[in-house]
Amino acid sequence: KPEAYLVREKQDFDEKKKRKENCPFCADNLSKGLARIEYPEEPRGAIVEEGTGGIKWLGEKDLELSRRVKSHEWKTCVIKNMHPVLNKMAPATILHPKGDRPYIFADGLGICDIIIESQTHSKPLGVLDKDVCENIILTYLRRFNDLQKGYPRLDYISIFHNHRMEAGATIAHSHTQIFSTPFVPAHIENEISQAENYFAAVDVGNCPFCKMIERERQNEERVIRKNRSFIAITPFDSGSPFEIWILPIRHNLSFGNVNDPINVGRIHEGIKEDEIGELADILTWVLGRLYVCVDDPGYNFVISTS
Ligand SMILES: [Zn+2]
Ligand SMILES: [Zn+2]
Repeated sequence: KPEAYLVREKQDFDEKKKRKENCPFCADNLSKGLARIEYPEEPRGAIVEEGTGGIKWLGEKDLELSRRVKSHEWKTCVIKNMHPVLNKMAPATILHPKGDRPYIFADGLGICDIIIESQTHSKPLGVLDKDVCENIILTYLRRFNDLQKGYPRLDYISIFHNHRMEAGATIAHSHTQIFSTPFVPAHIENEISQAENYFAAVDVGNCPFCKMIERERQNEERVIRKNRSFIAITPFDSGSPFEIWILPIRHNLSFGNVNDPINVGRIHEGIKEDEIGELADILTWVLGRLYVCVDDPGYNFVISTS
């Protein structure tokens, strides 16, 4: 697969070079403060002052962060979205639906982050080395857990990556978005209630996802790849061509830490940091195959969690 990338790279080299100069996510431009840094690589630390139009570092820890950004010493970088669809909310903010009946609406409350996946301009996820991908997933997980801990009013954290313009990407430099909202999106709520219904009434006492994995492992009809911790399948009744699901093999209800639905007041831990290597292995394999076999299609890659 690296060879396939090199050919393509050569073909649009000039165009890519041109775009790189104006790219807000390339390390040079980032260090000039075109984007506001939340933190590079290390999850805990920087708070960047709002409204300064650039980077203003607060405290000693942030001076170290500033030095690292300026000297390009980062692997992944979490920044605030410069054009957020949702406004940052205070931890105590309450969602007030309002409107002119029958048109109900609410303020766009939430947090919009961007994760710059690497310093390499415009190299797709599917051709990244496994250890680079591992580092990206680790950033997802740490940021997810930080948001969960820091903003108790958040009810859902949505992590997604749009690959190519036709899938909604507007900046060529490979990046992921995180939308954190004080409500659960309707399609996720529906999925959870369907799973509850399966557990309570259809196949009593059984988790539909665990059952799905058991079934697919038996007949191997839809299995694309599996390793110790994860399995990639094409779902029964796909919503779109080449839809692929990567599921954790052990029964696990969330990607990151969430409030435990049974033991109220306790935290349910999501995937463990030592499982990340296996997830990176299966993700790069699947996306690499899409890149080569389907000629680099546009796609949306979403972490769907409860
Ligand atoms: Zn770039
Ligand atoms: Zn399960």
